[in-house]
Amino acid sequence: MSHQNLAGLLPAELEDLALSLGASRYRGRQLATWMYRKGVLDLDAMSDLPKEFRAALATDWEAAAPDVERVTPSQDGSRKLVFRLADGSRVSAVVMPDDERITLCLSTQVGCGYACAFCLTGTMGLERNLEAHEIVGQLLVANALLDEGQRVTHLVFMGMGEPLANYAALVKSLRIITDAKLGLGYSPRRVTVSTVGLVSGIDRLGREDLKVNLAISLHAASDEVRERLMPINRSWNLAALMDAVRRYPLAPRQRVFFEYVLLADVNDSADEAHRLVKLLRGIRAKVNLIPFNDWDGAAFQRPPLARILGFQAILLDAGITTTVRWSKGEDIGAACGQLKEPIPA
Ligand code: SAH
Repeated sequence: MSHQNLAGLLPAELEDLALSLGASRYRGRQLATWMYRKGVLDLDAMSDLPKEFRAALATDWEAAAPDVERVTPSQDGSRKLVFRLADGSRVSAVVMPDDERITLCLSTQVGCGYACAFCLTGTMGLERNLEAHEIVGQLLVANALLDEGQRVTHLVFMGMGEPLANYAALVKSLRIITDAKLGLGYSPRRVTVSTVGLVSGIDRLGREDLKVNLAISLHAASDEVRERLMPINRSWNLAALMDAVRRYPLAPRQRVFFEYVLLADVNDSADEAHRLVKLLRGIRAKVNLIPFNDWDGAAFQRPPLARILGFQAILLDAGITTTVRWSKGEDIGAACGQLKEPIPA
């Protein structure tokens, strides 16, 4: 039987494991410190762990991150990391440096089951959920690839897959990533979970007391348009989605992010922008407009620049913070909605 992976266990679970192997809880805390705080995954390198404890661990457990199959640098400074998982499936993560920020975009599933019409990942269908160690592993690997003294500063769960559809592994990885004492110690304010709009998942996440940022893939301000783009809108329409957003607990200056992919002549009209202003009334919102990133066989186009800026201007005039996200890594297939790796033979 293959070994189970320590790098997806919560610090408390590592303590329990140590106890069950006849060691003290303290040994579990040391394990957490090595893996999550120091980024060391080699049991042999964990020099202050007793030999017998390491041997007992090694019977059923290993500490490992997913294998990096390829690192592709983009002209804009971002890098796409393609991971090959133990079962041969592939997922990717994107490292995006920007001034003093280094943002990592993480995947949570192999493929995605939500089939948004404009998204390349959506054409794959869902293959499987990632395990917590495969999610945390993407971050451990990204940090290890950076220069000495550098580390990822911000995390966005916006890679392949729908994070809230892999709820247990998502929350586990979030706890490991945000645990300030024995985990990776990321402030939850630097972590953003993006969703197609799974209302039940948004409510559940709000009750976890994780305090991470919520991003909603909105992409339309009327049900008629959204339904055409996103099948999920038939399960939860805009009214239900916006109610869930209003229920999501926010810290005093925290805002909800809304992603809006701009598709020429589909959702980029001035009318749709005015509807969006109305929809967001009373919500502490920040809108990210994402000009459509093209892929082979896509049935959509990016609007002309003037149209993009015109849409933005309507939101800005209404007092809504709105940025245009010129995607990173377009030249290497790493931009929003472009993540797809060939399925191995
Ligand atoms: N499933 C989650 C996480 C993925 S986030 C979610 O949908 O929120 C990836 C973001 O990129 C989503 O907002 C998605 O709608 C957007 N996107 C997908 N395809 C795109 C494309 N071709 N161009 C621009 N943005 C795209």
